[in-house]
Amino acid sequence: MQDKLLSIAIDGPVSAGKSTLSDAVANHLGILHLDTGAMYRAVGLCALRKGIPPEDEQRVVDMCLNGHARVDVDYVNQSQRTLLNGQDVSEDIRTEEVGFAASTVSRYPDVRKYLVERQREIAGKTSILMDGRDIGTVVLPNAPVKIFLTASPQARAKRRYQQLLRQGREADFDKVLVDLIARDKQDAGRKADPLRQAEDAVLLDTSDMDFESSMRAILDVVEARYGKQQ
Ligand code: C5P
Repeated sequence: MQDKLLSIAIDGPVSAGKSTLSDAVANHLGILHLDTGAMYRAVGLCALRKGIPPEDEQRVVDMCLNGHARVDVDYVNQSQRTLLNGQDVSEDIRTEEVGFAASTVSRYPDVRKYLVERQREIAGKTSILMDGRDIGTVVLPNAPVKIFLTASPQARAKRRYQQLLRQGREADFDKVLVDLIARDKQDAGRKADPLRQAEDAVLLDTSDMDFESSMRAILDVVEARYGKQQ
């Protein structure tokens, strides 16, 4: 039992292992994991489904502010389900196309404001580990634990490539690497809340670390702040 709420912020570039590691760490600690990227993906998917080009800022913003892209999360056995207008889109949001659309719509300050409000609402109620691009800098600037998780572009592309193969999808390593570098550039180069390490975040480069040692390294940072969790 925890007697106080835990608040953990994990940021980092695409395919740094944030989601998988965050899931495992949150599970270990018995707290919820909010994958905020899934929420941007849901908005990107919504635009694509409505035939709105993600590049059309005005229409994407109108879609959000007029209540046509309602994004909710639900937890089934501690595992996040992402809902778009009441429909579970947790699997549909996992394509490269939706990833790019998410990266595009996430440039718009009004879209960010809309989703950040939802994220803070969810975080206010419970112990949480949140992962994204701006959690330590914007969403939870007072989080006692902040980690910036990264790895070299090659290491990240290799993981993403292997993940695609495991899922039985077609994959070309060079294309995965090129796409990943393009998305990094878009996420770090945008004006609104760009991807960057918070000044008080611990940097973890997992290029040469396996899953277990990455998880141990994150837990070490958590335990240094909160003590060992039962
Ligand atoms: O983490 P994931 O790759 O699923 O995120 C999809 C896109 O959503 C990212 O490329 C990024 O542009 C955007 N994003 C963001 N802020 C967050 C989480 C994700 O801008 N907190």
